[in-house]
Amino acid sequence: MQYDVIIVGGSYAGLAAGLPLARARRKVLVVDGGRRRNRRADRSHGFLTRDGTRAAEIAALGREQLLAYETVSWLDGQAAGARRTADGYTVEIDGGEPRHARRLVLATGVADRLPELPGLAERWGTHVFHCPYCHGYELNRGRIGVLATSALSMHLALLLPDWGPTTFFLNGAFEPDAAQAAQLEARGVAVERERIARIDGELDLAMRDGRTVRLDGLFVPTRIDAGGPVAAALGCEFDDSPYGRVLRTDAMKATSVPGVYACGDAARPGGSVPLAVADGAVAGAAAHQSLIFGGH
Ligand code: FAD
Ligand code: MG
Repeated sequence: MQYDVIIVGGSYAGLAAGLPLARARRKVLVVDGGRRRNRRADRSHGFLTRDGTRAAEIAALGREQLLAYETVSWLDGQAAGARRTADGYTVEIDGGEPRHARRLVLATGVADRLPELPGLAERWGTHVFHCPYCHGYELNRGRIGVLATSALSMHLALLLPDWGPTTFFLNGAFEPDAAQAAQLEARGVAVERERIARIDGELDLAMRDGRTVRLDGLFVPTRIDAGGPVAAALGCEFDDSPYGRVLRTDAMKATSVPGVYACGDAARPGGSVPLAVADGAVAGAAAHQSLIFGGH
């Protein structure tokens, strides 16, 4: 079966990319591994008309509406690689038959790498977050911590006081210089130099000196990995961002490889559900038009 477009990744960006293609009655295959970035968070915030809706519900409704178009098919699975053919691409599927399409859309998201700290990963998405716009308001101006991983954590530490009294846990990862210390003081951020041994209870930071610091929310910048086997096999170019590399795309979400588009968190630093949907809409329409006009 030859598809017009294979979309790798069937979350917000990939689903949004599918819609303009489906509505042009193009043959689309969505291949999805089912690991949305926000799968550990219950509710999603900040998407117009869906503020506070369950993250899974937004994705499920998007999938249902896309699959209602009869030219769209869905494959639960993992794309393991891809190669160029005379008229498009062959996508390798883990444990399945390869699939062929004239164009590809990569909507594969990112993997978040958290710093090593016992108890941190288990609380990711419920008490530990990276984005105050997504989960800050619900902390009801409670006690907030920012965990330093490098100088990049300064940005979060200076933002968070708008959401509640903020303590910056340097944890041996970063030491502010005089100018940075003045910035933190001006924003009313308390600085804690004692290291954290582990996290207990809901969000009780067990400090190495024996104290326990109870928080309502802890923010930490993650390292993002937007790689993945398909982009690697195709030789897509990346842009560096402070948090990790993302796929390089132009204004139409075309990657450096002709006929391959990318959207969502995989192709922008600091993504969100609304941005993934917007990027997906652009990538889907651009992939469609390239089937007619050629070029990128
Ligand atoms: P993802 O949603 O990450 O989806 C990528 C999909 O591609 C996955 O289903 C994955 O399985 C699939 N995939 C990857 N590689 C392959 C492959 N090789 N083969 C097949 N499938 C593959 N944003 C908000 O706007 N509001 C919020 O409240 C919010 N809360 C968040 C809370 C947490 C804890 C986190 C981590 C993020 C949150 N975000 C929030 C950000 C949001 O989750 C992302 O911006 C959004 O999920 C990006 O959508 P995407 O479609 O680009 O990627
Ligand atoms: Mg269908």
